[in-house]
Amino acid sequence: MEPTHAERIAAERVAAATRLASLEQQLVDLRALRSGESDDDEHDPDGVPLSEEWSRLEGLRESAVRTLAELDAAAAAAARGEVPTCVRCGAPIPAGRLAARPHARTCVECAA
Ligand SMILES: [Zn+2]
Repeated sequence: MEPTHAERIAAERVAAATRLASLEQQLVDLRALRSGESDDDEHDPDGVPLSEEWSRLEGLRESAVRTLAELDAAAAAAARGEVPTCVRCGAPIPAGRLAARPHARTCVECAA
């Protein structure tokens, strides 16, 4: 049986929360690594400077936080019985797009 929109949101939320927890753990680990070194992290022997890795993880973390907020908003709207519509043109968001991205806020055309 196909999952409902609300079920997809819930599943996606679990995945996003898991991703966020993992990213936060990686940031904690990285912070520990940085504090254990001298300040020449631009010469990391593994190639990628720790400061770059930090920026990358921080960007992913922010994106995960944003996704969670969008999923919460989508879940609240679904609970109110609202049909998801595009925030830009007002058209209903196609089921296929919602299946792939349950927190989509724009239709396919507006997202492009
Ligand atoms: Zn649109």
